Amino acid sequence: MAPEDINRSSALSPEMLGMINTMTSTAVSEAVKAVFAGLVPVLQDMALTPEKIQALKAPPIDPAAIAKAKREERENLKSKADEEAARRAERARKDACPHIDKNGRPAICLAHNQPDHQPRGICVVCGDWITPREWRIGPPDEQHPNGKPYLVEPHPAYKIVMQLESMS
Ligand SMILES: [Zn+2]
Repeated sequence: MAPEDINRSSALSPEMLGMINTMTSTAVSEAVKAVFAGLVPVLQDMALTPEKIQALKAPPIDPAAIAKAKREERENLKSKADEEAARRAERARKDACPHIDKNGRPAICLAHNQPDHQPRGICVVCGDWITPREWRIGPPDEQHPNGKPYLVEPHPAYKIVMQLESMS
């Protein structure tokens, strides 16, 4: 058997082969074009329009999440109110304390080693911290990123601290 009989493609003339190749590649490119033509509406649907981007950015509205946030807000407000009430009760208890022990002597211990070298007092009965006129640092604001200083008037019992200090 001659080699040209085994390889049948060799029986085709170069012209025939060229025509087949052209037909094949044309068919393939037509098919690819058709596929892409079919994809165009899909790709247009997938394109991110400003409206779609906005919809993605907007958080989904979940009634359960809103209810939860509202409940947490209520609980926060309630716990803040409770803390405020406890703070007022504590203040009232300290204000009502005569800062005197059972023998009628001042129940105030002196505390030194303060940054401004002025003594403080602490009542051993109510635990009140008795301060002179002093600067304190409040929460920060626009002009005071490290906290806003404010002046506090002396504790009403500070004169007892000064008396004790002069006697010691
Ligand atoms: Zn006291």
